[in-house]
Amino acid sequence: MSVSPIRPKDRFLVFGAPAIEDAEIQEIVATMKSGWLGTGPKVAEFEKGFAAYKGVQHAAAVNSCTAALHLSLLASGLGPGDEVITSTLTFCATVNAIVHAGATPALADVDPATMNIDPQEVAKRITPRTRAILPVHFAGRPCEMDALMDIARSRNLKVIEDCAHAIETEYKGQPAGAFGDFGCFSFYVTKNVVTGEGGMVLAKRDEDIARVKVLGLHGMSKDAWRRFGDEGYKYYQVVECGFKYNMMDLQASIGIHQLRRVESYWRRRQEIWQHYNRALGGLPLALPANPAAGTRHAYHLYTILVDEEKTGISRDAFLDAMTANNIGVGVHYLSIPEHPYYRERFGWTPESFPQACRIGRQTVSLPLSAKLIAPDVEDVIGALKIALEN
Ligand SMILES: *Cc1c(COP(=O)(O)O)cnc(C)c1O
Repeated sequence: MSVSPIRPKDRFLVFGAPAIEDAEIQEIVATMKSGWLGTGPKVAEFEKGFAAYKGVQHAAAVNSCTAALHLSLLASGLGPGDEVITSTLTFCATVNAIVHAGATPALADVDPATMNIDPQEVAKRITPRTRAILPVHFAGRPCEMDALMDIARSRNLKVIEDCAHAIETEYKGQPAGAFGDFGCFSFYVTKNVVTGEGGMVLAKRDEDIARVKVLGLHGMSKDAWRRFGDEGYKYYQVVECGFKYNMMDLQASIGIHQLRRVESYWRRRQEIWQHYNRALGGLPLALPANPAAGTRHAYHLYTILVDEEKTGISRDAFLDAMTANNIGVGVHYLSIPEHPYYRERFGWTPESFPQACRIGRQTVSLPLSAKLIAPDVEDVIGALKIALEN
């Protein structure tokens, strides 16, 4: 298929390119010159700022959301023989973290309108071995937390929220990540707040945050430091076999300034989201559902569905046409059972999860970064219309 390019070839619009401003560049330089690059005062400041933004007492910074999920599962006491129910429409890291914790993932299909884990499907997947639910606030839209928390309470299940898309998300006035026992956030380059690589853990109980901090740095006990007092060399003691998951001050230097702009970036993405809604309304595409009353959407992803029967173009041909027109696009996500590893290890088939399967085969994410300027947004819309006309 040939499509006429509308953007010059040298101006490829990178999907999910972060908005990086002067303040974080200056802070990085200052950190480099300070002689302290590793975990230190900047990380502590970023943790404090993030906890304050989320309205919670404590947060523990780590080097990815994947690490945050892994540590949260371990600190929940989950391991071999325990089943954790998660969404079929998520990033592989959600499922991999469950496997790395030694537990067994179980999938629940999504609600076709919200694309979030369907509480009724969760209820169907519960077995005597189920120990936890791991909901993912897909695209930044909150899951049905009332229904999920009811299920969790009635079965005494842990809840670990995957908030990789959901820094600004709220459900009935309560922030995402503060419902479950743990909330896990990502500051990967495409996310709403970036540190390059980075993550954060929130926990309901102080002792859980303390455990995450110990597990995230080799299993070295902070209490041992205290025991040996403030003077002289401070010994650490290894109290369990932990991991190397700490965030660096270099990363936090970016995050501190990104976090100050979290609300202005959110408003910019909301504008772009609403502009897409108006511009694409008459086209034969399924657009994202409007945010439900009483919720706050984080506007992390704008996902459209390309159904070949309605558009005359397949999803994959549409992706190619957008790329040919210099627009970077994403797929969030092929359903988990489409990947050979999970099919082979767990015997899952995409067809057993019809909603996630269909969405995964039709979905396209359009650029939605706060970095986009008005002409970029028009270029996305122009390229999309050309792709549909051809
Ligand atoms: C990005 C993402 C992760 C992993 O985040 P990292 O910080 O890259 O480890 C996990 N879950 C979801 C839903 C994500 O989008």
